[in-house]
Order: sequence, then structure tokens, then C-alpha cells
Amino acid sequence: MRPDCLNPLFAPVTALPGVGPRMAPLYEKLAGAKVVDLLWHLPSGVIDRRYCPKVADAPDGKVATLVVEVDAHYPSDSPKRPYRVRLSDETGFLHLVFFHGREDWLRKQLPVGETRVISGVVEHFNNEIQITHPDHIVPVEQLAEVMTVEPVYPLTAGLTGRLVTKSIRAALAKAPDLPEWQDAAWLDRQNWPSWHQALDSLHSPVDEWAATQDTPARRRLAFDELLANQLALAMVRAQMRRLKGRALVGDGHLRAKALGALPFTLTGAQSRSLAEIDADMATESRMLRLLQGDVGSGKTVVALLAMLTAVETGAQAAMMAPTEILARQHFATISPLAEAAGIRLALLTGRDKGKPRERILQALAAGEVDLLLGTHALFQEDVAFKDLALAVIDEQHRFGVHQRLELAAKGVAVDMLVMTATPIPRTLLLTAYGDMDVSRLDEKPPGRQPVDTRVVPLARLDEVAAAVGRAVDGGARVYWVCPLVEESETSDLAAAEERHRDLSQQFGERVGLVHGRMKPTAKDAVMEKFAAGEFQILVATTVIEVGVDVPEATVMVIEHAERFGLAQLHQLRGRVGRGDKASRCLLLYGHPLGEVAKARLEIMRATEDGFRIAEEDLRLRGGGEMLGTRQSGLPEFRLADLSLHGELLAAARDDARLILDRDPDLKGRRGEALRILLYLFERDAAVRTLRSG
Ligand code: ADP
Ligand code: MG
Repeated sequence: MRPDCLNPLFAPVTALPGVGPRMAPLYEKLAGAKVVDLLWHLPSGVIDRRYCPKVADAPDGKVATLVVEVDAHYPSDSPKRPYRVRLSDETGFLHLVFFHGREDWLRKQLPVGETRVISGVVEHFNNEIQITHPDHIVPVEQLAEVMTVEPVYPLTAGLTGRLVTKSIRAALAKAPDLPEWQDAAWLDRQNWPSWHQALDSLHSPVDEWAATQDTPARRRLAFDELLANQLALAMVRAQMRRLKGRALVGDGHLRAKALGALPFTLTGAQSRSLAEIDADMATESRMLRLLQGDVGSGKTVVALLAMLTAVETGAQAAMMAPTEILARQHFATISPLAEAAGIRLALLTGRDKGKPRERILQALAAGEVDLLLGTHALFQEDVAFKDLALAVIDEQHRFGVHQRLELAAKGVAVDMLVMTATPIPRTLLLTAYGDMDVSRLDEKPPGRQPVDTRVVPLARLDEVAAAVGRAVDGGARVYWVCPLVEESETSDLAAAEERHRDLSQQFGERVGLVHGRMKPTAKDAVMEKFAAGEFQILVATTVIEVGVDVPEATVMVIEHAERFGLAQLHQLRGRVGRGDKASRCLLLYGHPLGEVAKARLEIMRATEDGFRIAEEDLRLRGGGEMLGTRQSGLPEFRLADLSLHGELLAAARDDARLILDRDPDLKGRRGEALRILLYLFERDAAVRTLRSG
């Protein structure tokens, strides 16, 4: 249960004065639906209104606060002309300019003969001084209130700066004083303020620097967020460790048979990773290991061999893939090996319904299936194993890592192996998986040819099509990737369907089309035809990026490559160069191409090392954005910026480890405060892993 002291912050934004149901969706779009979201909505700059010159000294283009007397009103005489009000001090006069100004309101605000404080951007226009739509008009008693530094917030259409500022002020007023969850000595050393002080000072920056730079207040809040992230991950993990696993040690007889049936020997990286997995499985604590390896690095066979160990002990194993296509592909790859080993293999996906599904479930419960492959259908409630000992999750880069970990925490005490093809930089890995054990397949199977990558302007599309034609005549198989289909809002996007029509006109029946809107069965049918060589050109949206293996494919064309994330381009390119023939990748870009976009495509051209690509992208764009954060399941941070706070992340990890060593149930004084921190950053699920709730 969330501590009561946080309830005001988790109320909907409509709990704030002046925010009604009509405004709520705008706030939700801007920052979030809850009051707490507004606390995290930080200023992007300031307006300094402390400058208070005489009228004659008011400089063009600057924000100034003036104390002036109202001389006269000049209501507009036509809808095109603005309403003007003349004001002056002893040094000169100026006009306030109002388009569509309402006379009754303006006369009330600016009574002739009275003194008013005016603040806004001064303009010199036709040798006269004016302020159009001043930001403030107040009686002179309120001068001090106006002469301040105002935060400027990022806005969204329909919300004014004044409204947002007011709402954030109101949200801050609801922020309670919370017990300190950070270590006192650490705070001291860093010279960081308390949580409440940090919030207050971030929302009341004294100057532009304070609003935009990495101040102690900003770092304090960033560290809070990172600590919540690292602590939550460490807690989920600790819980998994607590639930005793079982020692799985096989006798190797199945593994030997499967290895005998493989047409290749394992790479060094595969053998090393397998040894690491074996060691984990052999211990009594539960395995939670990440197998990280580029596309084509050979993760599947490692997973299979690990699963065979589980089966050798008389237990069952399961492997989940992110898509139907992939699950079927794993099934096709594994079937002959399973047969060679003499084990019973089954496939379960969302498409299996009725009687056939019943039969699989019965066999599974009776222990007549040793190894089950499938999609997330494996997690459905009525899927019961007789004795599941190892679960492999092939998430490629589609699954939410957090959800999976949490699922694992809920499940029975099975060993878990998570496979990912996302070349996540080490810093980001930490945010997604915490301090997880990692095996890396950093060596490709032998015989792979490097992919010859070219960066080509879209203007040369005809040449590219002609080259593709020649390749196809020579028997090649070609992927042609288009960025979007139909859902494109901007019509200049080359829709896959249109490209398919074009290419079909040139190359006839040999061109297939697959996109995300197709039914799974239709998708599979097209993929199968491409794999069988009936289609030689496959026009596709990014649905092919997830792990499909057609070793005969040697050409990859990507239109508008500049619109893809680097990780995505890397995944796509990984579809070719899988066989022993030389492969090519053509990255077509549209104009204009910015500096960063150019540099990114250049990286793609220069290297095939996914880890290097990811590191470079992080450096170039500073953030998890390039990984397609939502796609990869990497957490997004509100306050921390990993290109800035990488070292804070490492400190948060160490701190989280220390905290759980000393007080695993978060029962001490700091522990209680840390629970509040976890709720504050909505890591409620982690708190639920605690034995004492
Ligand atoms: P990943 O899942 O990591 O993208 P896969 O497991 O699909 O990669 O393997 C890619 C291809 O490489 C498959 O065709 C597989 O049979 C082959 N392969 C795997 N390991 C080796 C190896 N040690 N030597 C040669 N080929 C291998
Ligand atoms: Mg794979």
C-alpha cells in the first residue's frame, strides 16, 4: 500500500485548483495524469523580470518591468487595428498593444491616472516604444511579486505558461516533507539539498544557468530516480534468489546427441556462455542470466543445449519468442535436433485453439512434452507444466524487460535465461536489468562474410532498383524495407504498398509484401514463400526485423534509413550476411540530411559491431531514444539523463546493493524512507516483493 503521505501527489491533476476535466487531457499530454508528474516537469529556462528601467532606457527586445502611469486609452476603430493604451513616466511614454482587446476589461485593468506595473518584452517600433500583450499588469503594491525570475516550462498547445506555472506551484504546495532516504554522509559529500529543497529550487531557478544546467538540485533528484530504479531491480532479483531453485545437473547424454546432429561446432563464445549457464543451473539458487548476442551470433543453439540439461534431469523446459513467426522458426530449427536427441517437442501459440490446444496442454501436464516452444501464450493461466525447470525468453528487443522480470518473480522457482539481440551499452543495460549476470556472444559463427554497406541518396532509387534487378536475375534474394505503411501521416513516406506495386511492375510475380497490418497466417505464408525462393524480393515494413532467418538473402535495401534508430538498422542489416555468400546493404536516405543523421549512417557504414554502434549512438544522441526505448523495454527516466548521469547510475547500483545487504527487508529507518522513495517513483511492484509487504 502506498504510504498515505504520498496520496496527495498521486491524485489526478484535476485535484489542483484551476485544472478541470477539460484541461486534464492537456496536462496529461504535457507531463502526466497525476499531480506528481507535474513535480517532474522541469523548467527549460527563465524569464528574468528583475530589470526595472525608466521608459527612456527600456531597450528593444528585452524583458523589462516598468512602473508607469496610465495616460489614455485608444480603442480600436477597426477589427484589424489593435487597442492601444498610452502610459508614461517622467522620462517618456510607451504604448501597450492589444489585438482583440476587450475595452471594459482593459479599462478596469488600466484606469486612466493610476500607476501600474507592466512587464513584458519591450519593442522599439517606428521610433516609439511599445509592449504587445504584456505578461503582467498589476497595481504598484505588487511590484516585488513581478520583479522576479520566472521559470519557463515546456508547453503543449492549449496550455499557457501562466497556467502551467500556477499548476506546478500548486503541485509543489502539495509536496509533503518526506523522511530522508539518502545516506546522510553521501548527501553531505555531494553537497546536495533535501528532496523538498531540491524540488523547490529546481522550480524557482535564480537564473538561466540554474534552470538549464546540471545543478546539485538536479543531480539530487536524478540520483533519487536512479536509486529507485536500481533498488527495485535489486529487490526483484533478491526475491528470486530467496526462492530456492534446484540444482540442475544433466548427464550430458541428450546434449551429446544434439551436438552430434549439428552441422557445425560451437564458437568459443557459445561454449563459454554455455559453461556460465551450466554453472548457474547447477547451483541451488535460481538462475537469472541474460544472454546478449548480436543477430546471428547463435543464441538459439545455446538456449537449446541449456534446455536439454533441464530435460536430462527429468524436468521440462520452455522457450518463449516475441512473435508467432519467430516461435515457428525456432520450432523448425529445433525440431530436427530434438528428434536426434529423442525428446518430445511441442509448439504452442495464440493460434492454437480448441482440441489441438487441449491435447498439447494435456501432454504438457502429464509430462509427455519435454520442451515447449511458443509465444506469450505460454504464460496463459491454464498452461500447466508437470515440472518446469528452465524458462528461456527470447525477447529480441521487443519485450518489456521489467514486465518479464516481474513475471519471473511471480512464477514458480524456475531458472530463467533471457536472450536479447539488442546491443545495449553497459550503462543502459544496468537500468534495464540491474546487476544481472550477463553472458555475451561477442564472436560470430565462422564463415560469415562482412556485409558491404553503402549509403545512397534516395534520388538514385532507379539505379538501386536496376542493381536489385541484376542481383535477382543472378538468383539473389532481397529484402526491401520501407519505413511505414498506411499509418503514415505525412504522405511523402514511401508506403510499402506503393513500393510493392512499383517493384512488381518491374519484376513481376517475384515480389512479395509483408507488413504489420497483415494477419499472422498471411504474414507467415509470405515469409515462407520468401524462404522457399518463390518470392525473390520481399518488400517489408519493420516486421522482418525480429529474428527471421533466411540465410539465402544477400541484399538489404532500406528506404529512408535516416528515419530508423541505429539499433533498428543494425537489426535489419543482420537479416543478411547470414549465409556464406557476400551480402550488401543499401541505406537510402532522403534530403535534407542533418549532421547527426549523417554521422549515424556513417557509423552503420563503418562497422558491424552492434556494441560499438550502440555506444556511438548513445554518444551522438545521448539517451535511450535510439534504442527505441519503448520497443526495447528500457525504462525511461524523467529526471536522470544517462548521457549526463552515467556515473550516478553506477553509484546508485552500488548503493542499492549495500542497502539490501544491510537491510534486505527495508525495515530500518532508512529502509522505511526508501519504501517511500520506491512508491514515489512508482516502483510499487518491487515493494510487494518484500516479505513484510
Ligand atoms: P541469433 O538467434 O543469435 O540471432 P541464431 O541462433 O538464429 O542467431 O543463429 C544464426 C545462424 O547461425 C543459424 O542459422 C545457426 O544455425 C547458425 N549457427 C549458430 N551457431 C553456429 C556455429 N557455431 N557455427 C556455424 N553456424 C552457427
Ligand atoms: Mg534468434
